Amino acid sequence: MFRRIGFSSCLDETAPKASPAAAAAGGKGEPVKSVVRVHFPARNMTLSYYNDLFDLKVGDIVFVEGKLEGLRGRVVDVTYNFKIKLSDYKRVISVADTEVRGEFFFAGSHFITFDPTVLPYAKFISWFKAPDQEDDLYVSGSDDSGFDLNDLSAMKISREIAERGHGYYMENRVRYICLDGTKGRAAAEGSQTYELEFEYQNGEIRNLTCSCFCSYPCKHEFAAMLQLRETLELIAKHYEAPYKASNYFAAVAKGTLMSMVVDGKETGSMLLG
Ligand SMILES: [Zn+2]
Repeated sequence: MFRRIGFSSCLDETAPKASPAAAAAGGKGEPVKSVVRVHFPARNMTLSYYNDLFDLKVGDIVFVEGKLEGLRGRVVDVTYNFKIKLSDYKRVISVADTEVRGEFFFAGSHFITFDPTVLPYAKFISWFKAPDQEDDLYVSGSDDSGFDLNDLSAMKISREIAERGHGYYMENRVRYICLDGTKGRAAAEGSQTYELEFEYQNGEIRNLTCSCFCSYPCKHEFAAMLQLRETLELIAKHYEAPYKASNYFAAVAKGTLMSMVVDGKETGSMLLG
């Protein structure tokens, strides 16, 4: 018998669907102008921002412009009745899409789903950072070298970095990892959130990169490989059939899912199977 969990965040299934534009803006409805107070746990600060892009509610997780750019904040108060001088206020620039519906199975330190629509990478990463701006350009290169996932010594990583990576893995800092066919993505949380990409086929890893732009294999990469290995072992042991059927999995750290999807919500439901 699988241990599993299901989430539903809306009681009214007949509620009108959001427009595509609103969905792109985090699944929220039409924008409603407001002044919001946002609490930033990392700085223990609460500041006011102007919002004209979203329909913000208390409990929403947002990112802002200004000196707290890049830090996750939670809306603690919304005012619709206001008159402000625009130049006095910074704005809310994105809102995390924390509407998650679907089925997760228990897999060690993480919850795992085999349904690609439940928690795709784009939704997950919206909990940790604002979308890239149009002038953010990325380049990547590849030497097409690979290594065996079961022999991480082939990563040519220093002992010190490997130990730090192992520490990250033990602390469940690999908050998310998914594999869609052979294409993998992961997110590791350190002083900020780093994004990883890799390919995995027949036990071999290729083209592993991390957004921390270390010029050598980094602790995030090592931690992600340990997490991938653990997750694949758990899948082989308990969930071979659903994984084979979808050729996809996404694993999310239990604490991360609960704090993002459950905390701060006034309504919703959870089903334990
Ligand atoms: Zn890194």
